[in-house]
Amino acid sequence: MTANTLPNSSSNALPLLGRSQSELTEWVVSQGQPSYRGKQLHDWLYNKGARNLADITVFPKSWREEFALNPTAEIGRAEIHLHKQTRDGTEKFLLKLADGEIVETVGIPTSKRLTVCVSTQVGCPMACDFCATGKGGFRRNLAKHEIIDQVLTVQEVMQQRVSHIVFMGMGEPLLNYENLVGAIAVINKDIGIGQRNITVSTVGIPNQIPRFAEEHLQVTLAVSLHAPTQEVRAQVIPSADRYPLIALMDDCREYVEITGRRISFEYTLLAGVNDSAEQAKELAHLIRGFQSHVNIIPYNTVSDADYKRPSERAIQTFVQVLEDYKVTVSVRRTRGLEADAACGQLRGQHQKTLAKSI
Ligand code: SAH
Repeated sequence: MTANTLPNSSSNALPLLGRSQSELTEWVVSQGQPSYRGKQLHDWLYNKGARNLADITVFPKSWREEFALNPTAEIGRAEIHLHKQTRDGTEKFLLKLADGEIVETVGIPTSKRLTVCVSTQVGCPMACDFCATGKGGFRRNLAKHEIIDQVLTVQEVMQQRVSHIVFMGMGEPLLNYENLVGAIAVINKDIGIGQRNITVSTVGIPNQIPRFAEEHLQVTLAVSLHAPTQEVRAQVIPSADRYPLIALMDDCREYVEITGRRISFEYTLLAGVNDSAEQAKELAHLIRGFQSHVNIIPYNTVSDADYKRPSERAIQTFVQVLEDYKVTVSVRRTRGLEADAACGQLRGQHQKTLAKSI
């Protein structure tokens, strides 16, 4: 049996993906190899896309064969389960993890950029009422290497260097704190993506925003507000009961004090729920003093949620009111809609197809 025919995961093997150059060097030395092989391994993992140790042709044949017989480690790459391209250039991937779970990732090319929308959990426990991932339930946190794998996969398949990362895929990043922070370090140091080009989006978890501030990273924190009042927010975000808007805003203020960085607020616009001109005014008051940027996301229809996307006119009015209050606003125009591009939708479709076929 060659290493190429080995199953992707052997139960007690620890993944090499996600380790730093010095950790990889430690590992090659523990295998009786000279330390310079650590640098080679690092290069093959993060630049050359090696999926198996046997693929690393700079390694001696005898060592590669030894590996095939007795794997004491594995790289830990996931299998590409599905790859969909859309007319606007967005590419969606479903990755199959070693335990068979499926996770979604999206590559979004814009002029010179390639942004990857990365997942941090399989499913999500937050259960926001309008979100496809939330509707699908929660399975587990992603391991550090499973987060990093998404970036490498998009880079390899789209044959373009990834320039930006948004943690806006499936899951709540701050509920998978250690792996999130660990993955950011690798994405930055080992894959070479600048921290300023990384955005972490959260709906807010008690104590985690000030904790994240103490990491003193140069990344952008995006906070999903979705409502200017506690009452409306609690209607769409179940966790708002346990973590009220007032406490979330206090934590955001603390974050700004600790880091000196601006927060970007996200606001999914839901017709008749949070899209009135009055609510835009309330939102402007809520974020007064933050010098923040507001990212409006007109609702993407999710088949089993009862919301509607606001009209173009309602979107424009909402934006105009915010701008009148000197708030900088952008509207996220959904790309790749025809490939079920909105969060968690591709995996959602996949789950339904599976259910039908069982
Ligand atoms: N858990 C993180 C990341 C979620 S995805 C968070 O809550 O921030 C990124 C953004 O897309 C979040 O603001 C999320 O609320 C929003 N979103 C999810 N489903 C959506 C939908 N169907 N239409 C529009 N925005 C959606």
